[in-house]
Amino acid sequence: MFFNRKKEPDPVEEIETEIWKCAVDTCSGWARKEFFFSDDPLCPFCEEQMVSELRMLPVLFDRMPNQ
Ligand SMILES: [Zn+2]
Repeated sequence: MFFNRKKEPDPVEEIETEIWKCAVDTCSGWARKEFFFSDDPLCPFCEEQMVSELRMLPVLFDRMPNQ
């Protein structure tokens, strides 16, 4: 079904997500914790320590293949 709607982008549902963020202010490195399995990760860009942070991110749909 297709509805002729107004030109509004679909709202993207966002959820508070735990991430690792690079501790260096000038570095934009960060990663979702669910994709980063180390408890003491290093930034993949500058190899500095990363700090835990919460960030509003779009909900990820489960793309894991069925087993
Ligand atoms: Zn970094």
